[in-house]
Formats: sequence, structure tokens, C-alpha cells
Amino acid sequence: MIKKIDRRSWLKSGALLTTGLALSPSMLSAKSKTAPNKVFSPKQLLDPSELTFAEAEIDLPPMKARLTSNENPFGPSEKAKEALKDAIDTSFRYGSKYKREFIKMIAEKEGVTPDHILLGAGSSELLSAASMYYTYQTKGSILAPDLTYESLIRTATAHGGKCERVPLTDDLDIDLDAMRSKASSSNNLVYLCNPNNPTGKTMNASKLVSFCESVGKKTPIFIDEAYIDYVDNPEPNSMIQCVKKGYNVMVARTFSKLHAFAGLRIGYLVALPSTIANISIFGSRGGTISATSCAAAMASYEDGEYFKYSREMNTKSKDYLYKTLDKMGYDYIKSATNFVFFPISMDGKEFRTKMAMEQVGVKYWKFRDQNYCRVSIGTMDDMKLFTKAFKKVVA
Ligand code: PLP
Repeated sequence: MIKKIDRRSWLKSGALLTTGLALSPSMLSAKSKTAPNKVFSPKQLLDPSELTFAEAEIDLPPMKARLTSNENPFGPSEKAKEALKDAIDTSFRYGSKYKREFIKMIAEKEGVTPDHILLGAGSSELLSAASMYYTYQTKGSILAPDLTYESLIRTATAHGGKCERVPLTDDLDIDLDAMRSKASSSNNLVYLCNPNNPTGKTMNASKLVSFCESVGKKTPIFIDEAYIDYVDNPEPNSMIQCVKKGYNVMVARTFSKLHAFAGLRIGYLVALPSTIANISIFGSRGGTISATSCAAAMASYEDGEYFKYSREMNTKSKDYLYKTLDKMGYDYIKSATNFVFFPISMDGKEFRTKMAMEQVGVKYWKFRDQNYCRVSIGTMDDMKLFTKAFKKVVA
């Protein structure tokens, strides 16, 4: 299905050409296979946000504060680390025993049966499996807000799918009323991210439940709850309640954020058993999950004290950031998550590169002709480094 040169290789060659770099024929033919990342230097790296951080990092000075990917610098919990170590001796075996136990544990906590749960190596695998299932097996286009997390949509379009966008409101909220009016049986899926990335805003829970009930009758709804654990009251805000009511809704959760498992790779999907069965055709059905990560996730899942600690630390660092921005006269969106999105007056690319030169990694967006910075919440030391670099860069 993928007919053209992939986007990243194209962007790389485009970035090189626009820097005026002379490309040797051998570099051109190498394409993405041997990934000639080394040709980039910080000054030549015109469009770093289009590259993954790992690629960009190769030629940037080492980051002292990596605030690009909304990771949780306070974890994993001690209990999770212990479980990880304990599981090493049995890791010569596939982890089916752990997976079965873990699924049972999630099902019990969420109040559903185990056939409502699908595990993934991070939620990315589940977003991708759902995207492919709806793209290949059903007809229509995905309906999504015009500023959101792009992973599921990107997978769909790479496989020949289409996406219809609904503008955010002026306050950068997801416009559920407009989405409701637009949703029709010509959509094969509605994608919503709650809280939304990159804005950090949540949707009103009761409005979202009613949206799921009515729109779910026309088209399935995928709710990405990667950051729901940071919300003050996660349970009533989670749309797992809709799955329990039998609505046509699936909810993706990840351990990469509050549980601090970004490198351990654990996520899960909660949906009706028939939906889980369909989506699992396009995923690994848990086959990509390591026994060690699964054992650690089970320990983390039950470590309520760690959640509290992790959330408190996030709030302290976030408040420090808010104060910095207040003092400097910057507007920002109050975030329910572990990242903050705010408008900047400098060109986004330039800002991002200058911050990287100060060894602070951030992301930028350009939306409705306005440049924005998205900064992840790190440790207090990270936020102090951010403040120092930010003051220097925007001075
Ligand atoms: N969904 C959202 C909204 C995200 O921001 C991310 C990662 O940043 C993911 C899903 C994927 O995370 P993971 O694959 O680590 O679970």
C-alpha cells in the first residue's frame, strides 16, 4: 500500500537540500537504510521537530534536560524496580504467565472481564493496531480534532486511510459539539485524546459520556487516555465507564507516563470483547511484551503511594514552571498533564534549536499562525535548567 518514498527520508533529503549542503551520490543512494544522520550538525538541523528526538540528538550537544517526550523522570517506583530484577531469572521463558495474571489484574480493577483487555508494548502498538484494523477492514475516514496526537492518524494515512479534521475552539478545546455534528456513518473511527496532547486540556466528563453514547451509535470511538492518571480524579474522567455500559468505545492506557515505564513499554486497551478480537488481528496479541516489564507493571499497578508521590512531584515542578512563565509575562494553558503548551513569539524551529544548543530539549508547534512551545514537566533541576535556557533564548 505504501507507494511513495517514506516521509522521513523525504524530509531528511529536503532538510539537507534547503541547508544548501552538497550531497554526494553515495549519500543520496544510502536513503534511510544507513540513515546518514551524522551529516546533520546543530546549526544545519533546520527542522529538528520533524525528526525523532533520537535522530536529532546525535549531533546536538547532550541534553541536560530532556523535556521533549513527556516522560516521567521520577520513576519507576522502587517496587516496580524490585519486581523487574526478580523477574530476570525467569526471563528465558515467554511471559504468558505474567500476561495472563496482569490481564486479570487490570480486568478486576476496571470492573470488566479479561476478554475486554488487550496488552501492548506501550499504547503505540494498540493505536497502530486499531488504526490498521479500521483502515483495512472498514470503510470511511477517521474523524479527529485538528490539533491532537497524530500517531493513530499517521498510521492510517500511511496505509491509505483518510482523516477529516474538526477545528478546536478559540480556547483550544476539543469542540465536541462540532465533532458530534460532523460525525457520520462515513467515518470509520473517531479519535479523541483526553487529556489532549499537545494542549494538556481535558474534556468535560459528562459531555464526553453523552458524546460516546450518541456518536458511538454511528461510528466507533477511540479514546487515548495516555495522560488520564495525571488528572485530579481519573476514574470518573475515564471513558472506561462507557465500555462498561456497552457503548462502541475503546480506551487506550499507557504505563509510559505516570508509571514512568516509557522505556519498559507497557500499555493496554479496554474495549468490548468483539472489538478486542478484531483489533488484536493487527497487533502482537501481547507477544511483544517482555516478561520482565510485565512483572514490573503488575507491581507498579498496585503501588498507590508511588502514584501519589509521582503526581505531587509533577505538580511541584509544574507550579515552578507556571511561576516562571507568570513572572516573564507569558500566557500558558493550565495543564492537566505532565507537559505545558504555551505561545512564544519566536519562530518555533529557531526556538527549539536555540534551546537545544542550551542543552534543553523541548518541542514546538505552529498552529493558526502562532508558534507554541510544549515543554514536558521534569524534575525541579530540569525546570531550573529550562528557566535559565528560556530566559537566555527569548531575551
Ligand atoms: N498517546 C499519547 C497521547 C501520547 O502522548 C503518547 C506518547 O507520548 C502515546 C500515546 C504513546 O505512548 P506509549 O507508546 O509510550 O504508550
